[in-house]
Amino acid sequence: MGIIWENPFLKGRYVLFVRRMIQIAKPDIRRKEIELVTEVLKSGALTQGAYVSKFEENFASFIGTKHGISCSSGTSALTTAVEAAGIGPGDEVITTPFTFIASSNAILYSRAKVVFADIDERTFNIDPVSIVSKITDKTKAVLVVHLYGQPCRMNEIRKICDDNDLLLIEDCAQAHGAEYKGKKVGSIGDVSAFSFYATKNMVTGEGGMIMTDNDAIAEKSRVIINQGQVNRYDHIMVGYNNRMTNIEAAIGLGQFSRLRMMTAKRRENASYLSEKLKGIEWLEVPFTEEGCSHVWHQYTVKVDGALRDSLFDYLNKNGVGARVYYPKPSYMQPAYQELGYKEGLCPVSESVSKRVISLPVHPLLTKADLGKIVEVVKGFR
Ligand SMILES: *Cc1c(COP(=O)(O)O)cnc(C)c1O
Repeated sequence: MGIIWENPFLKGRYVLFVRRMIQIAKPDIRRKEIELVTEVLKSGALTQGAYVSKFEENFASFIGTKHGISCSSGTSALTTAVEAAGIGPGDEVITTPFTFIASSNAILYSRAKVVFADIDERTFNIDPVSIVSKITDKTKAVLVVHLYGQPCRMNEIRKICDDNDLLLIEDCAQAHGAEYKGKKVGSIGDVSAFSFYATKNMVTGEGGMIMTDNDAIAEKSRVIINQGQVNRYDHIMVGYNNRMTNIEAAIGLGQFSRLRMMTAKRRENASYLSEKLKGIEWLEVPFTEEGCSHVWHQYTVKVDGALRDSLFDYLNKNGVGARVYYPKPSYMQPAYQELGYKEGLCPVSESVSKRVISLPVHPLLTKADLGKIVEVVKGFR
């Protein structure tokens, strides 16, 4: 958005004032990433290689899993994880509808049935009580999403899965380094997937990683992501090309070295926002559950459904790039209509999707940006 003014001191010249938008996400790329990518480009080893292996080793040791298998995206990592876990036609997988569409698409690619459980209205995460109510003879797995960077109630969910002989899959696309009762998410389930898309807490551009302690799942994942190949031109299954490149891994290595700092900044920004916004009576600041260390992929507040869309317009008109994650439960998307889900299936998810709005919280926000976000929000009513 720009306004052109005639500058009275510079006759005939015009000055362009660009009103700066505080963006919802911004990748923090520094010299380290540029140096590492340059090394890769000079080496000529543009595809899989030493940088990929190093990134996998570093990230797996940080999360606390035996294996890390890098992928071309978070979606390909999650899809591969589901397939490597042995999920297929006839199986049911329980998951949340209040997430990015890729979470349930990963199940649909395997031709299993997606069974939606409702969420806890305070945390926005899947509700263990609802999970139990959806278990049938066909249930094979539970796929949880640590939404906005806050871990799900993993002790309860792990126990439900163990008691019912179900696999536990974690979608950690928004939760790099988040912990539940001292344990990193991504190390609690049987297999999990991270995303390093450009808006996530750490980035490679496009990219993802599968984490697991299970040797068989790890081995199968490596085959799936590489054309089903076990030895050169020996293809034991119809696989994909879901591989990460050295260029992406180089960015990831640079990012990984600053993840702790970037997360600390997100936490600082979130507590500043909550401190300043908690007095507003028409707005509910985010709730952090006991035992959860939240990594603030998003800072999401709740307002009355009648206010949400006008608040969204107001914030964006005034330079605060607020977003709605997510405006409808996945089963209400046009792409899911032929699957037979009905409105009313998950009432909490439906209600919350009309009331949430996320404010910028990323590590590149300045003190002035944070002050402006608070001021603009307070100016709404
Ligand atoms: C971003 C995201 C994905 C998909 O990751 P991509 O890298 O964009 O493919 C999956 N699940 C959730 C919850 C996400 O936020």
